[in-house]
Amino acid sequence: MSDSSLSKRRLTICVVGSGGVGKSSITLRYLSDQFPEFYDPTVEESYITKVEYGANMHDVEIIDTAGQEEFMSFRDSSMAHGDAFLALCAINSYSSFVELKVLREKVIREHDGDTDVPMVIVANKRDLENCRQVSVDDLVAYCNQINCPFMETSAKTRLNVCESFRLLLDRVNLLKQKKFYQSIIPEESEDYIPDHTEKKCVIS
Ligand code: GDP
Ligand code: MG
Repeated sequence: MSDSSLSKRRLTICVVGSGGVGKSSITLRYLSDQFPEFYDPTVEESYITKVEYGANMHDVEIIDTAGQEEFMSFRDSSMAHGDAFLALCAINSYSSFVELKVLREKVIREHDGDTDVPMVIVANKRDLENCRQVSVDDLVAYCNQINCPFMETSAKTRLNVCESFRLLLDRVNLLKQKKFYQSIIPEESEDYIPDHTEKKCVIS
């Protein structure tokens, strides 16, 4: 299977995280290489773009969420319907790291408990190293536990912004392949006893 296994239909990426972590900033940095200092925190924006991945261009929708689950049930929010998630915290806010874990659980619940929903953990505001509250050890421990990659980014300096979106597409591709192979190779059950009397295929 090649990287064209990224879906032909439009892929929806949701940028999630608590207010002020830099969801809008990272989205705008990625799409237009701008860093607006102020952005309306109540606005949810959706952008349609084309992304080159491997040999192909892919239609991607990026939803810059805005804590809208305060106003509607989580099930109705765009977060519940995304295909892939860039889950942000800010390294200068431990509470945003705690909130990120809660958000991940909500996303998994909405995806029928599927812990393989494509996700990359992004610790933003890396330029604010002096105010760090979330250590790399915290991130490594959490991401190892949930088997999810992470990246430290700065929307301000553009550190790792494109790379984190790219990593998410890699993740989408990898998990698609995993699901495909799981669907054709049944998992071995505990009481599986290989049948050695199976007929061999004889080519004459
Ligand atoms: P959102 O509520 O998650 O969408 O957060 P915003 O993108 O609106 O950003 C909130 C504030 O953090 C704004 O003042 C941004 O300029 C600032 N900000 C966002 N990303 C960074 C970053 O990487 N570094 C620094 N220093 N500030 C950032
Ligand atoms: Mg925003």
